Amino acid sequence: MAQGQVRQLGCSSSSLPAFSLLLPLPGEARKAACKQILGLARAEMAACGRGLRRAVGASPHPALRRAHSDARGRLKPEYDAVVIGAGHNGLVAAAYLQRLGVNTAVFERRHVIGGAAVTEEIIPGFKFSRASYLLSLLRPQIYTELELKKHGLRLHLRNPHSFTPMLEEGTAGKVPRSLLLGTDMAENQKQIAQFSRKDAQAFPKYEAFMNRLALAIDPLLDAAPVDMEAFQRGSLLQRLKSLSTLKPLLQAGRILGAQLPQYYQVLTAPAVKVLDQWFESEPLKATLATDSVIGAMTSPYIPGSGYVLLHHVMGGLEGMRGAWGYVQGGMGALSDAIASSATAHGASIFTEKTVAKVQVSSGGRVQGVVLQDGSEVRSKVVLSSASPHITFLKLTPQEWLPEEFVERISQLDTQSPVTKINVAVNRLPDFLAAPNAPRGQPLPHHQCSIHLNCEDTLLLHQAFEDAMDGLPSHRPMIELCIPSSLDPTLAPPGCHVISLFTQYTPYTLAAGKAWDEQERNAHADRVCDCIEAYAPGFKDSVVGRDILTPPDLERVFGLPGGNIFHCAMALDQLYFARPVPLHSSYRCPLRGLYLCGSGAHPGGGVMGAAGRNAAHVVFRDLRSM
Ligand SMILES: Cc1cc2nc3c(=O)[nH]c(=O)nc-3n(C[C@H](O)[C@H](O)[C@H](O)COP(=O)(O)OP(=O)(O)OC[C@H]3O[C@@H](n4cnc5c(N)ncnc54)[C@H](O)[C@@H]3O)c2cc1C
Repeated sequence: MAQGQVRQLGCSSSSLPAFSLLLPLPGEARKAACKQILGLARAEMAACGRGLRRAVGASPHPALRRAHSDARGRLKPEYDAVVIGAGHNGLVAAAYLQRLGVNTAVFERRHVIGGAAVTEEIIPGFKFSRASYLLSLLRPQIYTELELKKHGLRLHLRNPHSFTPMLEEGTAGKVPRSLLLGTDMAENQKQIAQFSRKDAQAFPKYEAFMNRLALAIDPLLDAAPVDMEAFQRGSLLQRLKSLSTLKPLLQAGRILGAQLPQYYQVLTAPAVKVLDQWFESEPLKATLATDSVIGAMTSPYIPGSGYVLLHHVMGGLEGMRGAWGYVQGGMGALSDAIASSATAHGASIFTEKTVAKVQVSSGGRVQGVVLQDGSEVRSKVVLSSASPHITFLKLTPQEWLPEEFVERISQLDTQSPVTKINVAVNRLPDFLAAPNAPRGQPLPHHQCSIHLNCEDTLLLHQAFEDAMDGLPSHRPMIELCIPSSLDPTLAPPGCHVISLFTQYTPYTLAAGKAWDEQERNAHADRVCDCIEAYAPGFKDSVVGRDILTPPDLERVFGLPGGNIFHCAMALDQLYFARPVPLHSSYRCPLRGLYLCGSGAHPGGGVMGAAGRNAAHVVFRDLRSM
């Protein structure tokens, strides 16, 4: 079999440095835990070693096997469609195209599929959703149309889902206050009333207001944006056809009705201005505001942050709007289910196959790709789930793209504030505001997104200002999640995996500093110190950690600038301006080349919409070829 054809080794090349991080950590408890997992580690690493030696062919240890492959054989010289990148969007596009009878091959440069929706055993025995970790945004049709449950997808719904502990002295022998939110509105109101009775009353109205906006946006997500290019430059037939792209926009307008101006304000105002109109208590406003800035180099005090707020309330799981959950086995298990659905219909998925170049005929039409190993693969169309930067600036011969287009792509805002830290611990964090049960079993708040340093919107703004000065935040905004609190398959018994989504960390540090080992550890230590203040004993429970600063996210996952959405989800880079105005219909100026990842409408998040919409556009184009 060709190299890279069948691949899942279950351990990444970065396992070893991460594992070595575990060893020098002091603390008796940690040593005991190290001992406990070292046995596991040895077995796993031996298996990894065997897997690496075998590289191709023989199956690795079942616990380590996770990838997808072209079960039916070798790389063919020609397919109908080639997809660059096995991110979840690339896999979704392949699954739809193949079901429509378009013979499709996917080429992924990494040893593992999923892109930013991936599970990796970075620290032996601990399986991490190494980048994304929460599922909600995936379009509901995709579950059913691709039969993801049949292909192994299992979900853990979270209720409650949000926990914001306070850093305060408990009064009269009581523990510090905290805000716990879930799907039970009466319970939510009780929680909010600790801080403000007025806010408790306003909360259901706010939820209804935001849900209506989410409902209006819904139809826009599942179709290509209004095709301005066809309107402007198309033939009469194309112009008439493009009228149908107005339908979702009109539907959205109809749902919003006379409240359109208020909703316009949500999309354009600073999140704090919107929240101030509803609420007075800082813990509630700051908790809600975290959604408005997540993944974005912005502050809730900056205009436009309202849109990202919406982006994180517009999903749902199992028919529950706004619900977020964990995927059993980590986010990679979702990518596996999509891949399984694609391959079951005949798609081919190859790992460790980097696309080096998009091939263009002398007539200016895409005719396939060249892989880094020199193989040429012909196809009628090429779809790319890689970022717009990679797709158009690195892989496409520049002479086939208009200069203005190239310039626009190179000017995309790819700033990102995120450093993701994956932590292995030997016991659950014990929060002062919600002490652990006597036997240490998970309590409801452990399954939540735990918001730390998020009691006040000004704290979030100050954290942002540090990054504007080129510094990692002194008190970073932290979203702490413990997926193993609901899914015990992720860690050895009694141990847990913790995901720390932290911001703000600029890509480029001030004063000539670089993100070297010292700076990365300094940021992770600062984050751990903050957690320790809320949950004493946390630092001593850490047995290993994997730190991904913006340059690391760029290097490992191919995210330009470390931007978790491929490029910023700012209003000027959304809908018919994503990735750039006039090229938002998944097509680009080069015939036969399509964007099908987060850089296209409707953008980032594990949503699958870009992959699904692009597949439909490509299918229509193929039919008229
Ligand atoms: C740290 C982090 C946390 C996040 N948290 C969440 C979350 O909890 N929930 C959520 O919904 N979203 C989250 N997101 C966002 C979400 O994960 C991404 O927006 C989404 O996964 C992107 O999917 P994609 O398929 O569009 O692209 P990607 O996942 O980026 O996939 C692109 C693929 O293309 C491959 N590739 C690139 N160049 C080449 C080449 N030349 N040849 C072959 N292959 C190539 C890459 O290796 C990659 O696999 C998070 C992202 C990050 C980074």
